[in-house]
Amino acid sequence: MNTIQLSVIIPVYNEEEGLQALFDRLYPALDKLGVTYEILFVNDGSRDRSSAILREQFQKRPDVTRVILFQGNFGQHMAIMAGFEYALGQRMVTLDADLQNPPEDIANLLAKMEEGHDYVGSIRRQRNDSWWRHVASRAMNSLRERITRIKITDQGCMLRAYDRKVIDAINSCKEVNTFIPALAYSFARNPAEVVVGHEERAAGESKYSLYSLIRLNFDLMTGFSVVPLQMFSMLGISISVLSAFFVAFLLVRRLIVGPEAEGLFTLFAIAFLLIGITLFGIGLLGEYVGRIYQQVRHRPRYLVEAVLEGRRAGSGMEE
Ligand code: UDP
Ligand code: MG
Repeated sequence: MNTIQLSVIIPVYNEEEGLQALFDRLYPALDKLGVTYEILFVNDGSRDRSSAILREQFQKRPDVTRVILFQGNFGQHMAIMAGFEYALGQRMVTLDADLQNPPEDIANLLAKMEEGHDYVGSIRRQRNDSWWRHVASRAMNSLRERITRIKITDQGCMLRAYDRKVIDAINSCKEVNTFIPALAYSFARNPAEVVVGHEERAAGESKYSLYSLIRLNFDLMTGFSVVPLQMFSMLGISISVLSAFFVAFLLVRRLIVGPEAEGLFTLFAIAFLLIGITLFGIGLLGEYVGRIYQQVRHRPRYLVEAVLEGRRAGSGMEE
């Protein structure tokens, strides 16, 4: 049995401009490693020529290339999930298709794994993203570290290496909306991090808008912790205690000084603040209910249209 030592999993969504440059650097970098490897591209329903380009590449290197074609756009994390389920390697590395992380750094991740780590995360040496993403991600990092037990220095970087055992645990989860580096971290026995390079996007544009980044962080908080809900019960208790004192005070004042009519707008201000907090609380509750709903529906998380792979992969189908 010739086992595959390394699977590299790459989600691809509308990356036609950058794919050739990726191939030109990735294959030589992996050939140099001296391990048996496979590269799994997952085309996440691209609407450009990406899938045609991947098909051509598969024909050029069918020995080490496999391509999973999704029927539609199911998101980066579902694409990686599909990769995990199909991959055969003893170790897996995830990498973005946009060359923001140098493929040559895969060697460093694997070297770190040799030291006995089953999860190797990455920290970007210097980030080349817009300034608001720096600020926002730093804020989210510290909030996340406080309410979940997940300690990832740099959550935004997808260049990461995982051991087969961690991947098996992830594969048994079937989570619908999840954040893979965090999920993997929670299963890792001995995680580590290394510093990797980070460049500006060479071609194409970022698929993440401000909205989807906010969504992602909600998934991260609600998917890995119930602390936000618990904070609401604590807040409710504190406000009840405060209002009890306030009621007692007003009662006494009314008996001594008589009825009052002023302070109307102060009352409004307090009421609006509390309404705001209540609405946020309902929304937060909705986040959890929504997650439960998506989970119990048991719909397929992604749909695969075709898999391009050589005969070697066993159950695989031919082109
Ligand atoms: N991606 C994907 N499906 C999506 C969005 C993105 O497969 O719906 C892929 C994309 O092709 C890239 C990776 O996920 O390989 C990261 O996306 P991007 O570079 O846009 O994110 P950023 O680096 O800006 O966080
Ligand atoms: Mg990117």
